[in-house]
Amino acid sequence: MIRAMKDRILELVQQYETIILHRHERPDEDAYGSQCGLAAILKASFPKKKIYCVGKEAESLTYLASLDVLPDTAWENALAIVTDTANTERIDDKRYALAATLIKIDHHPNRDPYGDVCWVDTTASSTSELIYEWYLHCQACGLILGKEAAALLYAGIVGDTGRFLYPSTTSKTLRYAGELIDTGFDRTTLHNNMVEEPLNMVKLQGYILEHFEIVGNEVGKVFITKAVREQFQVSAADCSRLVSVLGSIKGIKVWALFSEDEQIRVNLRSKGPTINQIAEKYGGGGHPLASGANVADWETAGLLVEDLVQLMQ
Ligand code: AMP
Repeated sequence: MIRAMKDRILELVQQYETIILHRHERPDEDAYGSQCGLAAILKASFPKKKIYCVGKEAESLTYLASLDVLPDTAWENALAIVTDTANTERIDDKRYALAATLIKIDHHPNRDPYGDVCWVDTTASSTSELIYEWYLHCQACGLILGKEAAALLYAGIVGDTGRFLYPSTTSKTLRYAGELIDTGFDRTTLHNNMVEEPLNMVKLQGYILEHFEIVGNEVGKVFITKAVREQFQVSAADCSRLVSVLGSIKGIKVWALFSEDEQIRVNLRSKGPTINQIAEKYGGGGHPLASGANVADWETAGLLVEDLVQLMQ
């Protein structure tokens, strides 16, 4: 079944002259890594095809890749591949709908099985891991994995596994990461780019550590208002990237980081209890131990915290 799915994806890739890759809004390393890593494999393997990556650039991830700006006509007779995106609402660049054929490749729970071909494997640590697995499956058909693709997929795996610490990391994940490293890309530069943060982000970390609270039984929360964001000159997306800061605190088992934008963005994490049902209750979603949502106001944010407290009772 899965072999047939991988073969079908290869057939479609071979068939189309134009292939446009999408990923989710508010991208992270795995979104960029799976999208641009797959694009790099396709560009190396099919140099005559037109391969593009679209979506809004994330300033903190420009070290990984730069994206293409396309007219609507680019999607005519094109194959669109969406990686790492659970539902159509979160696809960055809605013009995927103009494509002739649509493929979904993802590792989130498959609540919205969109696409003409939909390959979802929730046991994978990351979508980048799935892209590498697809490459291995198709390798005998002449697919080429260069250093650029390897670096992107490795970055995606490192990002989504919390540097191989999350329980989603399997022996297969580590084996794949090892094989990617063996291609010989510049790992030191990549690691430096992944860990270095500008001063305002480091200071915001300090703010989070000073202002978080523990409520109920091992529930952590921190609220970052618009005024605080302005003080530190950071976007809500920047704040989201610091959600793991609370995870290093003893006595916190589930936690939420709220950052105010037009809506209030919620990043939810857990060291054990399943929290994605709470994210879904507030219109969001994600994985059992890492999910997110948007809520309209601080009152609703408070209700979400109460649900976490209830969960932990
Ligand atoms: P984040 O906290 O933004 O890193 O997201 C963690 C996980 O939750 C990701 O895998 C996302 O796919 C998912 N997620 C975050 N926000 C939303 C949302 N508003 N709707 C659905 N899924 C979300």
